[in-house]
Amino acid sequence: MSIEPQDITRSHAIAQKIFAKAALAKFELVPEVYEIWYAYYTASHPRLNADVDAIVLSGRPFDLATFRNLHARHLTTTENAAATQQIISDTQLLLKGVFDEIINANQSTANYGKNLKTYTSQLDQVTQVADVKSIITSLIKDTSAAAASGQGLQDKLAAATARTEMLEKKLAQTEKEATIDTLTGLRNRRAFDVRLKELFNDFRQNGQYFSVIMVDIDFFKKFNDTYGHQTGDLVLSTVGDTLYRSLKGNDFPARYGGEEFIVLLPETTLENAVVVAEQLRVRISLKKIEDERHPDVTLKVAASLGVSFVRQHDTMQAVVDRADKALYHAKETGRNRVCSEKDLA
Ligand code: GH3
Ligand code: MG
Ligand code: MG
Repeated sequence: MSIEPQDITRSHAIAQKIFAKAALAKFELVPEVYEIWYAYYTASHPRLNADVDAIVLSGRPFDLATFRNLHARHLTTTENAAATQQIISDTQLLLKGVFDEIINANQSTANYGKNLKTYTSQLDQVTQVADVKSIITSLIKDTSAAAASGQGLQDKLAAATARTEMLEKKLAQTEKEATIDTLTGLRNRRAFDVRLKELFNDFRQNGQYFSVIMVDIDFFKKFNDTYGHQTGDLVLSTVGDTLYRSLKGNDFPARYGGEEFIVLLPETTLENAVVVAEQLRVRISLKKIEDERHPDVTLKVAASLGVSFVRQHDTMQAVVDRADKALYHAKETGRNRVCSEKDLA
């Protein structure tokens, strides 16, 4: 897919909005921040927009930590194809801005300027991450060759180089496999593993604790067996949506496997996580699911939940296992209930 001229114009318009916003609110326009506003203005991630709007309404300031959380929640490991496309147009924009600035800043570096103009037109043609990478590589090469002429320009070029290198790293990152579960729209197991690792390292290094809630739908098989697999899928996406809507802030819900979900709750005690789990249980049990394939029935769903809390000398596996054991204790003692690791003998 090639980038149409109107897309570039649109990208420029979006970039202008972002730069204006950054200038007004005085926040540093690091790539993560840029990506969040870019996604916001293109409305590519409706859930991100909902979160941003909620923060705006609450009057909380957008500090770097807020941006990082938004990024971790919505963008870091987002769907591959869409993200790649976004990064490409993002990169086109950033590089064009850098080129323009350098060309204007120093007319005497004529050759270098000419090369930059060539890259600018090449940039309009790119369709793949590899194309952007090759432009970045040429840019970095030419930049160091031209960097000898004049300190002011040198600084600008160094900044441009740093920026393109940063973007290149981001491009490599988005080439990794997709991490969104397509059925529920939640993060998948891979994204969960990445986030768990981050939280676990944070716990080890800074003592930032967290809780884990494991969720398993009760008698899920009967939806498949009675109404068919598509109805089963509808139940799964409804439960996923209920989890997503019921959780806030830094909480990280993911689809763990078939009809199992898992939630990471940073800076949440076991007691509070049990309260959250109980709210999730109630919300799931109150859902009335209408399926157009079976208009005569209203489906009711229930889930069992297990809660654990990270502890000293823990491992990532162990904290998840304790949530799993608590979950099975909830199953054994009647289902549609919450148990925590404290309930385990
Ligand atoms: P329990 O209350 O003990 O958890 O019983 P259950 O029926 O929920 O659990 P069980 O493990 O017996 O069955 C889970 C079923 O989930 C089996 C599998 O075919 C189904 N399943 C797994 N992934 C999907 C999916 O993506 N879509 C649908 N429709 N079904 C799925
Ligand atoms: Mg299960
Ligand atoms: Mg089940």
